[in-house]
Amino acid sequence: MVWTAHILSLFPEMFPGPLGSSLAGKGLEEGAWGLKVSDIRDFAKGRHRAVDDSPFGGGAGMVMRPDVLAPAIDTALAAAEEGTRVIYFSPRGRAMDQAFVRKLADEPGAIMVCGRFEGVDERVLEARNVEEVSLGDFILSGGEVAALALLDAVVRLLPGVTGNRESLEEESFADGLLEYPHYTRPPVWEGRSVPEVLLSGHHEKIREWRQRQSEELTKERRRDLWDRRKRNF
Ligand code: SAH
Repeated sequence: MVWTAHILSLFPEMFPGPLGSSLAGKGLEEGAWGLKVSDIRDFAKGRHRAVDDSPFGGGAGMVMRPDVLAPAIDTALAAAEEGTRVIYFSPRGRAMDQAFVRKLADEPGAIMVCGRFEGVDERVLEARNVEEVSLGDFILSGGEVAALALLDAVVRLLPGVTGNRESLEEESFADGLLEYPHYTRPPVWEGRSVPEVLLSGHHEKIREWRQRQSEELTKERRRDLWDRRKRNF
């Protein structure tokens, strides 16, 4: 079985979107990963097929109904492999990071619920043991862009998707550090030279230089990562 995402959204036409291009798109076509998309509206009942309603207690906006979302989630769960997590994208959730992405890539797949309006009725999150994850401390208009971001990050880790596996080992966060700076041709550009050591052909010196650059950059730009790393190593 290949890693499979099942997206629940009111805008199913947004998928695969940008993931239909480049290596992810090729991987999808070749069956290196799977994508199912369901329209939440298909689970709405009644003449008006309402998916949302006004919030109890008053206030602005609309809330997605639990009696529409639950059957959508249950249908996805029934078709999914055992152990498939249900994720809801939400600014209240745990911020996604590379550790979360790696763990998810090792699982059979994920069911991803994309919210709209003010969000979803709290009870459905409790009743279906839904995990909330956030793209960051800002508000999107819907969960779809967060789903695309998470999918992109997971899919590139899957076997048969990324051409150069080595590049996965060296990039930012692989060892809790930001990546060192890159340079390519030409060796002098607008009067700026590439650091001498990179042209030396001395692999050990290059490795040391890159490691030092990674550490300096992380200390300077992401004190939070640096402090966490010191605790973990
Ligand atoms: N009223 C909510 C925001 C709703 S935004 C609040 O103040 O917290 C509408 C939908 O967009 C949400 O249901 C969620 O699914 C999605 N969304 C918005 N911001 C997000 C973020 N930072 N990460 C993940 N999903 C987000």
